[in-house]
Amino acid sequence: MSASVVNRTEVPILAGELWLVPDVTEFGDAFNPSSGEIIARVPLCGAAQVDQVVQSAKQAFVTWSQTPAPKRAAILFAYKAKLEAAFEELATLITRENGKTREEARGDVRRGIEVVEFACGISHLAKGETLPQLAEHIDGVTMREPIGVCAGITPFNFPAMVPLWMFPLAIACGNTFVLKPSEKVPLTAVRLAELALEAGLPAGVLNIVHGGRDVVDALLTHPDIAAISFVGSTRVAEHVYVTGCRHGKRVQAAGGAKNVMVVMPDADPDPTIRAIVGAAYGCAGQRCMAGSVLMGVTDAVIRVRDRLAAAVDGLLVDDTVSNPSAQMGPVIDATARDRILKSIQEGVASGAKLICGAGGAVPERGFFVRPALFDDAHPEMPIAQEEIFGPVLTMLHSANLDEAIAWANRSSYGNGAVLFTDSGAAARQFTRDIRCGMVGINVGVPAPSAMFSFSGWNRSFFGDLHVQGLEGIFFYTRQKIVLSRWDDSYRRVQGW
Ligand code: NAD
Repeated sequence: MSASVVNRTEVPILAGELWLVPDVTEFGDAFNPSSGEIIARVPLCGAAQVDQVVQSAKQAFVTWSQTPAPKRAAILFAYKAKLEAAFEELATLITRENGKTREEARGDVRRGIEVVEFACGISHLAKGETLPQLAEHIDGVTMREPIGVCAGITPFNFPAMVPLWMFPLAIACGNTFVLKPSEKVPLTAVRLAELALEAGLPAGVLNIVHGGRDVVDALLTHPDIAAISFVGSTRVAEHVYVTGCRHGKRVQAAGGAKNVMVVMPDADPDPTIRAIVGAAYGCAGQRCMAGSVLMGVTDAVIRVRDRLAAAVDGLLVDDTVSNPSAQMGPVIDATARDRILKSIQEGVASGAKLICGAGGAVPERGFFVRPALFDDAHPEMPIAQEEIFGPVLTMLHSANLDEAIAWANRSSYGNGAVLFTDSGAAARQFTRDIRCGMVGINVGVPAPSAMFSFSGWNRSFFGDLHVQGLEGIFFYTRQKIVLSRWDDSYRRVQGW
């Protein structure tokens, strides 16, 4: 690790086998959010660097796309072993550049490794279909082929998991890849690529470029890129989808969210409170599957409110690098902190009651926010509608389950929704009527693992085929159908 490129002050790009600091005029700063210290300088690349990495990916595609699937899988097995060996090191890196707690960082790495495990099954996953004798003397066979150079653009909140949602599946399918990690958390991505090379991935199959809007736009418009995978905010997801499609690429673009948790009066209080606290305040609320609105049916919220408030006030908010006991870390940067504090002030101004988060100590250095809990909000208030992406939970009281579902379905987003109940009938109604792509029944964060696709709806996803799972395989391959006729007349012509 000491020789790792992660330890350089200026974060290098990866073009083929070369780690290099590009000749750019602008650099951004990556911080340790727990202390506010700058930990790395990130080159803000542009079209020239994008072309450099795309050309290396394009060249590598010639050989990699012809490499037998079991050989690609063998490298992924070796990669999985490398990731397991570096598990704690990666978790440390994530805590340092993202600020999440040690346990949360471990979860980030574990969920990413699960995608690599799934990708190891590529020899089976990418098989086509056959129908012999679909007409007289005619057999039909489909095959899935790689599509070329694919690019991935990722957010700050899961520095390991989200890049690993993308490139292991893309390269397992025989594509080559350009990763553009969030400029706020570039180090984990660089280490993931370094480990892939150590596992035997040929040079050029995985490349990395850094930066913000300019580099993204250069990727979206580059003629040699076939597909774009994006995860981030809805505003940027829509831009990526529209621009990528206009330039003839297939695009999967996952966006933001405002996820609802509904509590029925028959819900078991202890596990429900634990699940709510985890869903709303885990990763300091910086999860696209975070629960950020809590709807109690009849008196359900009133039953749990005091204990929930005590649990929220009791969370130890601290520097996650130096204090392994911290239960909630900082948010990513000063801009995020100020935006979240402003949303809290606006919630108070709109008439909702702030029952947690008004006071209480947070560390002076770094980018900390006290976990906030609102009661007596209305469904049309901005704190109940807009993504805050911080440790803020808003409680509403609904007359019945129909009303709670109707409120939830007003959202323009459609990532996740959760019901806590002891009733199969309520669970069935919720599952059928809720308009979003990932549903939890007595599960606080219904984020699917690698064998399922991450199925956002509405303005939480732009495109057709979602990331990971079988849709991920379909996204990174295109289908060829071969119809073959071999019949007796041909045999007679040959004189057999
Ligand atoms: P973001 O949209 O600001 O950034 C995501 C990526 O887009 C980064 O790589 C960034 O460099 C790039 N980018 C930023 N502004 C851009 C612009 N104007 N033009 C082109 N590219 C731009 O998101 P973030 O703050 O890093 O992450 C938080 C967001 O991601 C939240 O909205 C969260 O809900 C969402 N998210 C969604 C999922 C999901 O699966 N739906 C998962 C994780 C995070």
